[in-house]
Amino acid sequence: MRKSLLIILLLVAFRLDAGPVEGMWIPFLLEQMNIKQMRDMGLRLSAEDIYSVNHSCLKDAIVQFGGGCTAEIVSPQGLILTNYHCGLGSIQRHSSLQHDYLNDGFWAASFDDELPCPGLSVTLLVRIEDVTERALHGIGEEMNQIQRQQLIKQNIEAIEKEAIRGNHFEARVRPFFYGNQYYLFVNETYKDIRLVGAPPSGIGKFGGDTDNWMWPRHTGDFSVFRIYANQNNEPAPYSRQNLPYKPKYYLPISLQGYEKGDFTFVFGYPGNTREYLPSYGIDLAADQENPLRILLRGKRLDIMKEAMDQSRLVRIQYAAKANAISNGWKKMIGESRGVRRIDAIGKKKAYEEKFRLWADSTPEHQKKYGSLLSSFEKIYLEYLPVDLASVYISEAGQGIELVRFAAGFMELARLSQAKTLNPDTLTLLLTDLKRYTRGFYRNYQPGIDEKVMSQMLHEMASSMNVGYRPAILSEIGKSHGNNWDEYARKLFQRSILSDSTRLIAFLDGYRPTNYRKLEKDPAYQLMLGIYEMNEKNIIPKIKQFTGLLDSLQRIYMAGQMEMEKNRTFYPDANFSMRIAYGKVDDCQPMDAVTYHYFTTLDGVMQKEDSTVYDYRVNSRLKTLFQKRDYGAYVDRDGTMHVAFLASNHTTGGNSGSPVLNSVGALIGINFDRNWEGTQSDLMYDPLQCRNISLDIRYCLFIIDKYAGAGRLIREMKIIDAAQSL
Ligand code: ASP
Repeated sequence: MRKSLLIILLLVAFRLDAGPVEGMWIPFLLEQMNIKQMRDMGLRLSAEDIYSVNHSCLKDAIVQFGGGCTAEIVSPQGLILTNYHCGLGSIQRHSSLQHDYLNDGFWAASFDDELPCPGLSVTLLVRIEDVTERALHGIGEEMNQIQRQQLIKQNIEAIEKEAIRGNHFEARVRPFFYGNQYYLFVNETYKDIRLVGAPPSGIGKFGGDTDNWMWPRHTGDFSVFRIYANQNNEPAPYSRQNLPYKPKYYLPISLQGYEKGDFTFVFGYPGNTREYLPSYGIDLAADQENPLRILLRGKRLDIMKEAMDQSRLVRIQYAAKANAISNGWKKMIGESRGVRRIDAIGKKKAYEEKFRLWADSTPEHQKKYGSLLSSFEKIYLEYLPVDLASVYISEAGQGIELVRFAAGFMELARLSQAKTLNPDTLTLLLTDLKRYTRGFYRNYQPGIDEKVMSQMLHEMASSMNVGYRPAILSEIGKSHGNNWDEYARKLFQRSILSDSTRLIAFLDGYRPTNYRKLEKDPAYQLMLGIYEMNEKNIIPKIKQFTGLLDSLQRIYMAGQMEMEKNRTFYPDANFSMRIAYGKVDDCQPMDAVTYHYFTTLDGVMQKEDSTVYDYRVNSRLKTLFQKRDYGAYVDRDGTMHVAFLASNHTTGGNSGSPVLNSVGALIGINFDRNWEGTQSDLMYDPLQCRNISLDIRYCLFIIDKYAGAGRLIREMKIIDAAQSL
């Protein structure tokens, strides 16, 4: 009795000890690298249960959604769950004043009512293979960066070609550790994806931008889609004859919840981290680029939000656009603050000092790494002006919607001028352009863009490095006495691109000699001035500098791995499938503040404010709350849990990722991080970085009790606590 008590105590002590684990790990290397630690922390699965190429396993239920998010398959009929903010573009595209699915939500009553989403696809992973040797075959020390890149490119093309011979898969070889290792990913992409259900934005985006990236969080951030396949269960373009996809594996769901300290892991497609940069790289990202992007995005957002607050139509039209801008805007604010708070640059400098000493310790190290850090310093310094110029182009110049739209007409002008257009090609091109125009105008308000234009041009003209500033801005500045409001007003009056009726009429009657009219159009001219400067002077330099920095970073990475032989390194996120693991946990983000690890529906009601759009609570949800009508989804403590915190290392792209318990059952959907921890893309801090997940029970409660879509619940496999897989 005594002995077993001691063992239990030791186990508990160990579990409490096994703190947050930094890293996003490659699934097929789990056996070698992580499984022991994962099992010590509480996992009850084997590495083969998670990733295998020989039999169905968890990986077969994880998909990359729409290129930038993750989703998970939860039924034998291809039903998938992802975040509301990941499905938002599709929900928005189906919304109108008559069918305001954003405001009211959408629930397909049957398979036939599920809505096709052209352009949306999901990708399943078939297998991963380490192809480092083949990718680097023939590479020698004597080669320069260009020769090296060319040979690697050839090698990769051969590997990819071979991987898809005789099958319908796609193959992609990606560099890891900055080109020190290469992995092949063989994928299968399904293109008939349909919208099945979405809560109203009052649930799916509850708290809006104010709560985004924050804890405590009460957002029901999920949406429901389905994968369709042809009669052979293979990918096929949309067709009414397609059938729901039959997955190799789908995730069981647990309604048992979690306790603080419970093991969890997140499976998904994290996008982009840069954990191994030198201090100069962090300074560039957090202290130079971010502040400029924050400033420019903030100005655009203020204009959009003011208009969205005044009109329902504008709110629908700009919902997805504004969301995309503000999500990054707020993340960057958190990231730069976090970098400062944890003194990431100071820590990197201390590490660099250690590296310098190590590099100087033997002639061999000295030869390879001796001048590395001073080269970094020099190149980052030279890179700064062109990098900031590129930020101005992308955030300010291309932040003007009309400028981006006008770029779509360059091909027509170019081909017309070159007189290479035969009548058939011209007809096709014009049909495409009319579709492009109608699509653009569906969600466009020239009045908003006119204000954006004035402000963005003012910023570019007054603050951009003269060497990279488009010359057209000086001309306009002179001719309009730097009155950008007046310039924008006149441009919007005169341009045919800013008037859909005139533009469609122009395209209807288009003859190749009309390209001159386009070339004289003020919006077209502005676009050309900005794009030409970018393409001729900025992009080539960016490529040159990033090429140099990449090659230094490859050597620095190899050096770090050589110096710290006993450390297990994980590769930076690059939109390939990864696993992060940790535990359900509180967080102490700052002095005297502790974040409790879960939130409840009570908190939604506490935040309710009918005068603020993002904090309205709809009456149906309120009634369910008042009656405590939570069904099977209630927690042991009698409340309805909404979201929870855990110490899984995640990033953008992990949005929609499944959060799994020790037996691989779904307990949550990852959707965010705490603001104080967003520097984790540059430097992970176990004390301050937490991922935020939607409690799966809240998701099912909304589907079942709120929306009455029990048909979806019946497709799923709900398991109880004791059940293993
Ligand atoms: N909410 C995030 C996103 O927008 C997810 C994250 O970065 O953790 O992608």
